[in-house]
Amino acid sequence: MTAVTAEQGLYEHVHALEFWQTLMDLVKHRSTADDPDPPLRTTADTIAGLFRSVGLSSATVTTITHEGRTSAPLVYADQRADTDGARTVLLYAHYDVQPADEAKWTVTKPFIPKEVTAGGDTRLYGRGSADDKSGVVMHLGALKALREQWSGLPVNVKVVVEGEEESSSVLDSYVAAHPEDPRFKADLVIVADTGNLAVGRPALTSTLRGVLAVDVTVKTLAKEVHSGMYGGPAPDAFTVLVRLLSTLHDAGGDVAVAGLTRFDHDWPAVPEEQYRRNAGVEPGVGLVGTGTLAQRLYGRPAVNVVGLRGAPGMDRPANVLHPEVTARISVRLAPDQDPDAALKAIKDHIEANAPKGVVREVAPVSLGRGFAAYQGPHHAAVETALKTAYKTAVVAHSGQGGSIPLVSALHAANPGSDIVLWGCEEPLANIHGDDESVSRSELEHMTLAEALLLNALAKPRH
Ligand SMILES: [Zn+2]
Repeated sequence: MTAVTAEQGLYEHVHALEFWQTLMDLVKHRSTADDPDPPLRTTADTIAGLFRSVGLSSATVTTITHEGRTSAPLVYADQRADTDGARTVLLYAHYDVQPADEAKWTVTKPFIPKEVTAGGDTRLYGRGSADDKSGVVMHLGALKALREQWSGLPVNVKVVVEGEEESSSVLDSYVAAHPEDPRFKADLVIVADTGNLAVGRPALTSTLRGVLAVDVTVKTLAKEVHSGMYGGPAPDAFTVLVRLLSTLHDAGGDVAVAGLTRFDHDWPAVPEEQYRRNAGVEPGVGLVGTGTLAQRLYGRPAVNVVGLRGAPGMDRPANVLHPEVTARISVRLAPDQDPDAALKAIKDHIEANAPKGVVREVAPVSLGRGFAAYQGPHHAAVETALKTAYKTAVVAHSGQGGSIPLVSALHAANPGSDIVLWGCEEPLANIHGDDESVSRSELEHMTLAEALLLNALAKPRH
C-alpha cells in the first residue's frame, strides 16, 4: 500500500465524522468532580465501550490507588499490534470536566449540546466539548480510521482516559512515583488536551507551565471585635492579609517573589488584540507585567488570589475586625521550575513580608510540574502529520499557560520518547469558561492528523 492511498483512505474514514454525534452524547454526561453524585463511572463505562467498538477489546474501567487515595474511574486499554516489532503509542485524554455556572451560559446550557454554524464552520457548544471530550473523540476517530486502513492494529496501542484531570489527579502522582509501571510505557505519547493557536493554524505545544496552589492563613485576634471599640491599633486579619498579598507583585505587575524562575523559548508571538479579545479584557484596562505576551503567558510565573475564607461578605457587612482569614494563592510556574522549590520561594516570601506573628500557616493544596518538550525520534513524523492534515506548512511551537502535571510524569516514565501535545482547544473554545465550544473543522483536522501519525508509525522498527 503506498503512502498516498493510505492517506486518501484515512481522509475518507475520518471525514465520516461519525464521532461528532458521539461527542454530543458525551457532552450530556455531567462528569464534573464537584457534583455530589458525579456520574463519572457511567461516563467511564460509556467511553470504555466506545474504545471496544473501535477494536480495542481490552478497554476496561479500572482505578489507581496511590498513598491511600483511589482515583476516579480510569479507562485503560492495552492492545497489541498484529505485527511483531511494532511501536507502542499511548493515547491520553480526560473525560472529567470543569464545573459550569449555568446562569452565565448564553448559547445553551452546559450539558445540553448545541451546534451553531457560522462563517463556514460549525461549533458544538457544551461543557467538555473541547476540554477534553474532544480528545476522547479524536482518539476514537484516529483508531477507527487506522483499523479500517490496515484491517488490524499496526501499532501497539495503550489508552489512558482519566476522570480527575480537572481536580487532583491520583494518576499523575502515581506515575511520578512508579515510572517503571509497564502500563504507562510507550515510544510515543499523545496527549490530546491542548490546542492550536487559532482555528486552522496548526501548532504543537512545546511548553506547559507548572502549577502550585497554596493557602495562606493570617490570624491576628482571638475573636471578632467591634471596629469602633478596637479598630486602629488592633490588627484586622483581612486588612493584614490584603497588604501581604499586595507584596506578591511589583508596581509594574511582575511577580515579585524571589526564587520563582523564568524560562525562555522561541514561542510564536501572541497578538495583543486577539489576546485581549479572547481574554475579555475590558477596553481601557491595561495588561499586567513586562516582557512579550508569549513570555508572560508561557514562560513566567503568574500569581493570583483565587479564593478567600473568613473574609467579610458584602451581604451583611458589619463594623467588625476579622480574626482569621485564609487566601488561596494560585501560582503558574515556569515550565522547568521545580514545584517544591517554588513552594519554598512562596513560603520564604510570605515569611519575609508578613508582620511578625500573624501567619498561622502556608499550606500547599496542590503541586504540578510543568513541561518543556523534548523533541524525540518521531518528531518529524509528528510535524508532517499536522502539515498534511491542515494542508499548510505553518507549524508553530506554541506554549500553554495551563498545566497538565501528568505530562511531566509520563515524560519521566518514558525518557527518550516523544510526547505530543495537541488537540482541539484553540482560543475560541474558551475552555473552563462559559459557552465552551469546539470547532468541527478542528476536530476533523486533528483527528486526521492523529490518524496520519499513527499510520506513519505503523511500520516495523528498522
Ligand atoms: Zn483538559
